Amino acid sequence: MFHKNRHASIITNGAARNRVRARGSRFIRNGKKSIVPLLPEISLTQLRQSITFIINIHNMLQKKIPPRKAYVLTSGGLDSTLAVKMLQEQGVDVTGVYISTGFCINSHQKKSGRFDENKPDVFKVTEELGIDLEVIDISKDYISIITNPKYGWGKNVNPCIDCRIHMLAKTRELMEKNGFDFIATGEVIGQRPKSQRKDTAKLIAEKSGLKGFLVRPLSGQFHEETEPEKLGWINRGLLGRIEGRSRKEQIKMAQKYNIQNISAPAGGCCFLTDETYAVRFKDLLSDRKDFLKSNASQPLTMDTLTILATGRHVKIRKGLRLALGRNEGENKLIRHYAANHIVLEPEASMPGPTALLEFVHNEASHNCREEIKSIWGSGESMQTGKSEMASIEQFLENSGSPYASSLTGEDILICAKIMARYCDDKTSVRLKISVCLKTDDPENSGTVDLQIEPLKNSTVLNQRLVIKANEKNFL
Ligand code: SF4
Repeated sequence: MFHKNRHASIITNGAARNRVRARGSRFIRNGKKSIVPLLPEISLTQLRQSITFIINIHNMLQKKIPPRKAYVLTSGGLDSTLAVKMLQEQGVDVTGVYISTGFCINSHQKKSGRFDENKPDVFKVTEELGIDLEVIDISKDYISIITNPKYGWGKNVNPCIDCRIHMLAKTRELMEKNGFDFIATGEVIGQRPKSQRKDTAKLIAEKSGLKGFLVRPLSGQFHEETEPEKLGWINRGLLGRIEGRSRKEQIKMAQKYNIQNISAPAGGCCFLTDETYAVRFKDLLSDRKDFLKSNASQPLTMDTLTILATGRHVKIRKGLRLALGRNEGENKLIRHYAANHIVLEPEASMPGPTALLEFVHNEASHNCREEIKSIWGSGESMQTGKSEMASIEQFLENSGSPYASSLTGEDILICAKIMARYCDDKTSVRLKISVCLKTDDPENSGTVDLQIEPLKNSTVLNQRLVIKANEKNFL
């Protein structure tokens, strides 16, 4: 039975009795083809929800009921911005939540003074959207998640499933505390191979305690119906059907919402997804496994994990690596993390890297001297005056560093020679080696001034660079 001038009809026979069916774009009437706008097939439940939604919106406009409140996880990227816009369009009162894991490339670029101010960041974006922003710092709980993720790493050392569960569980706590109604994200089905599949999306919602209360507006129609949809707080019909890695749909939507500054896709801001970082991180974990009887004897800190993302890294020997700043921003960052490390710097008038020794305390029986000799040789590359070596040994003894006993004079010498190689003067460099037990506390720092000849043999050095590939995402 068709109704004149209407696009939907109730089918009153057989199994389809309870369905409301839109007529196709083409149908035959009196033997003639007619074009009618295509409407989706919807069930009576969906029709009822849509009506409830319209009544809710009407009541909100009449100020009879306050709008529903949702937290949207945002990183300042396009997808989460679109999620905010889509919910706002449905009358939802949105507050942004930014979760700081300590691994955001933008934050590190800011610390090193190398952030491109034209790039959108979460604070600027939420201000432009006119929404409040809550910041949750999970960096302290995060180390155990990265080192031992229940659901494993992605392509590199990104524990995306565990990470999303943790982020959402933290946001759920905030939602319960502040009486919000639900949580949303800008996730797109199929955009990321592991954490944004339909099955893992479901798992993440369940494990974070948000089953039924986690909405993904961009791909909402691919997911199971959520409580906000069932209750008519939001309209399922207005949720998106975006899937895959192409950003075409998002860019179209950005134009519709007049969003000018379109940032990198999700994950572009997290250096756990970076190939170079993954190589360094796995190398560090392997050294720790070999050397530490228990993690408690030298806890892995966020500073160590951040240094891994900073500068050029040379693996001196097992358990010892040298981080060298490649520009003023990286030098600044390395100085920032100097506490409890041995730091090498050229004299003030000489442009060159700030370098930092990062090492694993050696509890295993391990002959560092022999290893250094076997890697770097004992001839020309290690040549130095006896007095320099004596000064280094003396410095180590006096430094008061809790881990200095794991280092030898040869360790420091080879680091100094490598560092001198990257200074402007290639013949001989005057440099300062210091141990900084507390940043900005010179009283607590031991120092030694040395005149060092740069390392000449570059073959070994090139082999020991961890790692040269794909440093584009680095600072
Ligand atoms: S990309 Fe990084 S921040 Fe994003 S979910 Fe994965 S691990 Fe977490």
